[in-house]
Amino acid sequence: MESNVPTIAEASIDEACRCIAGLCSPLEAEPVPLTQASGRCLRDSVVAPEDLPPFDRSAMDGYAFRHDDPSIRFVVVDRLRAGDWRPRALRIGEAVAIATGAALPSAGLQVIPRELVIEQEGAIELRQRPNERYIRRQGEDAHAGTVLARAGTRLNAGILALLASLGYTQPRVARKPIVWHILTGDELVEPDQVPGPGQIRDSNATLVRALLAEHGIVPHQIRLPEDEMTCLRALEPVRRNEQPVDLLLCSGGASVGPHDFTRSLLTTCGFDIVIHKVQARPGRPLIVGRRKSALAFGLPGNPLAHFVCLQIYVRTALRAWEGVPNPEPCWRTGRLAAPPATKSAPVETLWPARWQVTPTGMVELEPLPWQSSGDLTVLASANALIRVPPHTINWEVGTLVRFLPTDSVS
Ligand code: AMP
Ligand code: MG
Repeated sequence: MESNVPTIAEASIDEACRCIAGLCSPLEAEPVPLTQASGRCLRDSVVAPEDLPPFDRSAMDGYAFRHDDPSIRFVVVDRLRAGDWRPRALRIGEAVAIATGAALPSAGLQVIPRELVIEQEGAIELRQRPNERYIRRQGEDAHAGTVLARAGTRLNAGILALLASLGYTQPRVARKPIVWHILTGDELVEPDQVPGPGQIRDSNATLVRALLAEHGIVPHQIRLPEDEMTCLRALEPVRRNEQPVDLLLCSGGASVGPHDFTRSLLTTCGFDIVIHKVQARPGRPLIVGRRKSALAFGLPGNPLAHFVCLQIYVRTALRAWEGVPNPEPCWRTGRLAAPPATKSAPVETLWPARWQVTPTGMVELEPLPWQSSGDLTVLASANALIRVPPHTINWEVGTLVRFLPTDSVS
């Protein structure tokens, strides 16, 4: 099976995403309590097990009486609050006071809002007789058997409330992937340290942690010296299959320099390299490997390249493992509010930008200035990546462009 994996020497963005999505089948489903289900993807379609509402309920605070009763004056024979269950047949001239949400005492009734009656000494007199019955009918929201949410739906507050109302307290979602993240770079120090000459603070560990946190994943993160043997020792439990891993991220050393050993490291750990490079920048030296159902990414260390690779390729894998029906990036279209300072590039560029919806409802993109894939400051304002085709020059304001919002997981 492994040998059938096509290897793409240099994949386009779309080829890379398609390949990654194809390699990641949804992980095993597990039931989770509603309190832990927010943001996760349903693995089963949810079918209403019963009618919603489950019985006829009053839609108003008022009085219920027989719909075929032509009376103007009624005797109030009971007072029903939400939660009460006191079935009774009403006679001509009888009414029950009823609260919003309370079960109707019998069929064939109507409710009149209390504002439309005068009540005195246990009797009511109608001021008018509305046509509306003011009843929330059993099953009017959903009949038993109706599909209410499809497999693959991301659970938000609204859907969770619906599941709660149906007693669906353990929705099944994909288990979370086990993620290892190793970082190399002899120049790196912890963010709380003062870098010495020639050193910089590690920002990629934080970037990866934060992005994975958006998917509810806490990675096993290790910073290592830039030495293949040391890295191999740290990954020995993964190589020997002693520690389960679904996703191995290796930050730094993904290129072809003399110290770039990610490719060889992944191969030694049993991964077949399926993508050697992508035809896009930043993030061109991306490496993707697969070992059975596990995936490994060699991520170029430059922070902007890191950001792009995580947003485009790693998120595709995470969504596919969650069981999202279309896990590849959902590209959108918007208008350029300003031209990007494009330098004609031989490959596609993923240009950091800010997108917004204008008060008139237009999706507008403001391309942000950046110098190289080593830039960091642009990450403070970017919430989108624009796809700039190869050799693009002189894009005009108003041009329709494709972009990916980077401020949401889906
Ligand atoms: P590499 O991919 O290891 O060749 O690194 C490319 C560039 O990214 C170099 O300038 C590194 O200093 C920088 N870099 C690598 N890892 C990190 C990191 N964890 N945080 C910030 N910069 C990094
Ligand atoms: Mg390095």
